[in-house]
Amino acid sequence: MMGVFQDLETYGHEQVTFFHDKKSGLKAIIGVHSTVLGPSLGGTRMWKYTDEQAALRDVLRLSRGMTFKAAVAGLKLGGGKAVIMADARTEKTPEMLAAFGRAVDSLGGKYITAEDVGMSVEDIDTIRKYTSHAVGGSNEGGSGDPSVMTAFGVFQGIKAAVKHAGLGTSLEGLKVAIQGVGHVGYHLASYLSAAGAKLIITDIYPNQIEKVVQEFGAIAVEPDQIYGADAEIFAPCALGAILNQRTIPQLKCKIVAGSANNQLEVDSDGFDLFRKGIVYAPDYAINSGGLINVAAELDGYNHERVLAKVSKIYNTIADILERSEAEHIPPHQAADRLAEQILAEASLGKCQDKTLELCAR
Ligand code: NAD
Repeated sequence: MMGVFQDLETYGHEQVTFFHDKKSGLKAIIGVHSTVLGPSLGGTRMWKYTDEQAALRDVLRLSRGMTFKAAVAGLKLGGGKAVIMADARTEKTPEMLAAFGRAVDSLGGKYITAEDVGMSVEDIDTIRKYTSHAVGGSNEGGSGDPSVMTAFGVFQGIKAAVKHAGLGTSLEGLKVAIQGVGHVGYHLASYLSAAGAKLIITDIYPNQIEKVVQEFGAIAVEPDQIYGADAEIFAPCALGAILNQRTIPQLKCKIVAGSANNQLEVDSDGFDLFRKGIVYAPDYAINSGGLINVAAELDGYNHERVLAKVSKIYNTIADILERSEAEHIPPHQAADRLAEQILAEASLGKCQDKTLELCAR
């Protein structure tokens, strides 16, 4: 594969491992971006990538995002992620998950896996038969589906962004356009509807749309109409890179705040949003509820403690947006600076624990 080490240098990874299992057809990549704050933790995404380079790019972007997410969420965890190159609906088999579980185990705890797009709680249960380094399962103290907590965190972040944008302290009557009503999008729709918001939704699967229209009285639009929807808030809850040169000019919203990872296609898209006066809640800061939820398993899961911690996403988003305003920089940059500050301080702390000789290396 061309330019692998160049990519690793760009993203600053500690380790990237490729796994292949001929019998089950497993093709997986695990990216360990950083273990400065603790073992790397992040979900596994099963997706039919167009090619290997696309899968590698995705794992590198996502695992780096996890380092920043754990740091800003105040967790003693590093960033990692895995991708499995397969169609989750047609190619996933117990044998493939077993082979993947063994792959995770071979890293000896440096990487802890969890759920992501294309993976379920049941899949984590299967993986856990082959490694103890998996969280988010339903048994043995597992916290189950993290998407409810992710949605709860996004809901908190939306409230903080609404206040920051000068739209008040209530969501009553505000319109929210949700892109993707899968696991997170569905629960987000539920929280928003209960708070009195009006919903405009889209998805590429009609069944998902039908459920949200029926239960929450949402209005459904075609996937390409969601960007230009007449709504105060746009909540991307499908896939990444959807904020770009093609979509940003279409946005009519005042706020972008949703669960999808790596929403900005390129960094400069964050500057374009800022120039357009759109308040952007940085993805990894607003969507850390699921991570906080699964990470709680490592210290003995307690639902009330998790709820209290996820509620603090309100403060995190408010803090990032205030820093952005005070420093005249886009929110995504303010979030990065906060994460970098936390990581730099942790590196210094780690260094002090070691001998001077080791630190000098
Ligand atoms: P999911 O697969 O359950 O839901 C995604 C939904 O988006 C699906 O219903 C899918 O049909 C739809 N979709 C895909 N492409 C689309 C398109 N072009 N237009 C409209 N809809 C489209 O996944 P999820 O668990 O709900 O996660 C959603 C996003 O949030 C992902 O980016 C994921 O990485 C991120 N995220 C999830 C969690 C979590 O706890 N599940 C945590 C953090 C971040």
